[in-house]
Amino acid sequence: MNAQPKINPLDQLTFDNRFVSELPADQETRNYPRQVLGACYSHVLPTKVTKPVTVAHAKEVAALVGLSESDCQTDDFSQVFAGNRLAVGMESFAMCYGGHQFGHWAGQLGDGRAINLGDVINRQGQRWALQLKGAGLTPYSRMADGLAVLRSSVREFLCSEAMFHLGVPTTRALSLVTTGEQVVRDMFYNGNPKAEPGAVVCRVAPSFIRFGSFQIHAARGDLDVLKKLADYTINTHFPHLGKPSPDVYVTWFEEVCRTTAEMIVHWQRVGFVHGVMNTDNMSILGLTIDYGPYGWLENYDPDWTPNTTDKAERRYRFSNQPACAFWNLGQLANAIYPLVGQVESLQQALNVFTQVFGEQWQLMMCKKLGLSRFDSDQDDALFAELLAVLQMVETDMTLFFRQLAEVDLGKDTLENSNIEELIAPLTEAYYLPEQLTPEYISCLLAWLKRYNQHLIQDGIPHEIRRERMNRVNPKYVLRNYMAQIAIDKAEQGDFALIAELLELLRHPYDEQPEKAQYAAKRPDWARQRAGCSMLSCSS
Ligand code: AMP
Ligand code: MG
Repeated sequence: MNAQPKINPLDQLTFDNRFVSELPADQETRNYPRQVLGACYSHVLPTKVTKPVTVAHAKEVAALVGLSESDCQTDDFSQVFAGNRLAVGMESFAMCYGGHQFGHWAGQLGDGRAINLGDVINRQGQRWALQLKGAGLTPYSRMADGLAVLRSSVREFLCSEAMFHLGVPTTRALSLVTTGEQVVRDMFYNGNPKAEPGAVVCRVAPSFIRFGSFQIHAARGDLDVLKKLADYTINTHFPHLGKPSPDVYVTWFEEVCRTTAEMIVHWQRVGFVHGVMNTDNMSILGLTIDYGPYGWLENYDPDWTPNTTDKAERRYRFSNQPACAFWNLGQLANAIYPLVGQVESLQQALNVFTQVFGEQWQLMMCKKLGLSRFDSDQDDALFAELLAVLQMVETDMTLFFRQLAEVDLGKDTLENSNIEELIAPLTEAYYLPEQLTPEYISCLLAWLKRYNQHLIQDGIPHEIRRERMNRVNPKYVLRNYMAQIAIDKAEQGDFALIAELLELLRHPYDEQPEKAQYAAKRPDWARQRAGCSMLSCSS
């Protein structure tokens, strides 16, 4: 009796690789670093690795692409998502793009260590592009090795999923696979190279097209490819806008301005600092993309940036993210200008960013404070004063907003309140108790009084305010030190904390009292530790 040939579940996925079939390919098929002209991508195979082991996967993302829990536990899954085997229907390629890095045009960048596997069409008819990060050299690798280390892969894997569950638009992460190989990195570019375990993350998003994908063709004056890519993007990802035309390019750009503004409002809401908002790291779909030296605000410091490479200028500091997004959109407008042919309409569309960001930011602040509506007579001052109070002493942003929901307000004026009792819930949010001077307390109290007035006008019961606030103010975020502990353990071969944090961060707004240790302030040891307070682009 002949045994039935075993069919791998991964070979049963449905692929529709439109990016490959509809857009111009690089004619050179040999894999060496070069300028790729007249093409949107190059065919390239992932580099095989010796011992792929899946150390984590996200079950929701697996379900999105049509894989079951047991499908993710097979050796074939590890082989495919380390790049050792292409499943039936996969076509591997690296995308060509350029970008402005730290405000300067950098020419061709491209997928130097990302290799796309094609687009799965799931049972609901949704398109999900799969992309391996760290799967080896491509024509865009320039002087680098095309690989990724475990450290940065853990950070990308956990943070993409944490952001998704926080409600922030983002690319997703399907899997984290160690390769069994060592990768050498000089983490702070200071002459201390070290071998680190290699890993590959499989990222998932409707598309990985970036602002820089358009910029490269515009910069080269290749309007034919620019138009092909814009038309492809609109037809595939913005079909509701209609057939591409000069007017449709403008409405498309307007939509990019809107989704980008919404994404940045979310970043500001949860205290996320991207760290490298170069135009090659800006998704055309308004998704958070490329988790490198990102960080989470612990104490509220608008000037904070986690990226040591950006230490002097702090271009990508927390408070500058909206301005950087706007600047990047301006570069995208320049790139598509040849398709539109007139400046005014693009300029107007660009204003949509400012308008949407302004409105959404106000709305977001109202929600964070549990207010029913924005009151233009008083709330600008209410928000400004709050941000000033948060900076007066070292105040943990996440804990402050979460605990503010516990402060008993909205009933009467605070004239006869016991101040100590009133502000007791907030004490967890302060890093340095000695900073809580009478001067600070009186500023805090003045702000609480102002806030209380608004709450009294709203007339919402305390429980309802708390419930509202807890839906937008997370209890759990991926604090920099938490990711670092998970990395330290993973580098010792213990991956349990990655699974634990993934599970925790699936419900960031829930109390999860048994996990309360993760809702605490950054410990003192993490204040100056690499990976916790300082990160570099080395990954
Ligand atoms: P990033 O700062 O990660 O957005 O990367 C900027 C550019 O450098 C992109 O073109 C990346 O593909 C490329 N790059 C980053 N790291 C590597 C690496 N290890 N090997 C090859 N290319 C890389
Ligand atoms: Mg990048």
